[in-house]
Amino acid sequence: GPQLHGKVALVTGAAAGIGAACAATLAREGAKVLLTDLDDARGEAMAGRIREAGSEAHYLHQDVTDEARWAEVVKEAETRFGRLDVLVANAGIAILKSILDMSLEEWRRQMAVNVDGVFLSVKHAIPAMKRAGGGSIILLSSVAGIRGSAGLAGYSASKGAVRLFAKSVALECARDNIRCNSVHPGIIDTEIWDKMPIGPGGRNAPLDARAIAAASVPTGKLGTPQDIANGVLYLASDQSSYVNGSELIIDSGQTAG
Ligand code: NAD
Repeated sequence: GPQLHGKVALVTGAAAGIGAACAATLAREGAKVLLTDLDDARGEAMAGRIREAGSEAHYLHQDVTDEARWAEVVKEAETRFGRLDVLVANAGIAILKSILDMSLEEWRRQMAVNVDGVFLSVKHAIPAMKRAGGGSIILLSSVAGIRGSAGLAGYSASKGAVRLFAKSVALECARDNIRCNSVHPGIIDTEIWDKMPIGPGGRNAPLDARAIAAASVPTGKLGTPQDIANGVLYLASDQSSYVNGSELIIDSGQTAG
């Protein structure tokens, strides 16, 4: 039977890429899914596609850095779907720039989305999960959260913070039957790479960031959003009930060496 029957999941950054695949996958396994994003047109379309496939889904506009909105989003999950069991904190941005080219404003924006956004998601999900009798929190980090990355220093710092935040959440919530794990994708074929203009000095040369990144993968393969959604499904489901404070690397061997 469906692995998430009767569960309610919240996925941030669910309009595109990995978040969209996670939302669709959790829904296919029986979860009712609340999708949030900044991109309302694509978020609504994604929720519509999930409903057409026969599952329950609803889209809400959300900037994950806005704390007041977090309270409303979690409340909506409980009023519309009755509970909150699964959080996939997926919304994130990557600014590809050398340290010398990066402004403090850019550094802070990246930290705000990738770190503050994850902190707020967890802070607001925990009380609802306690009311549900427990839950599973899944935080999107990166292979860049395990080792450094030239040109992505701020991103790497933000994802390293997510990695240890996840372990701390796991420890702090263990007695509440709330698990928390981090997921570390390698090079996944999404639009995040199109948003990274690269080249000499980190500026807009017409180079393919995906191809350059894929050269660092032993198999030479890019991953798909579904590869990540499969791991997220495992962590969301009771199949992983003894997995807590763990890090799931999905990178085709990129960090094996
Ligand atoms: P993406 O850019 O394709 O999608 C990200 C989504 O998040 C977009 O729909 C965007 O609108 C939304 N978003 C951005 N800022 C937001 C905000 N402030 N509030 C709400 N929504 C916001 O990216 P993706 O590749 O699907 O990445 C998803 C997550 O996976 C990110 O946390 C990213 O850092 C991580 N990740 C991606 C890769 C990869 O290779 N694609 C690798 C490692 C980790």
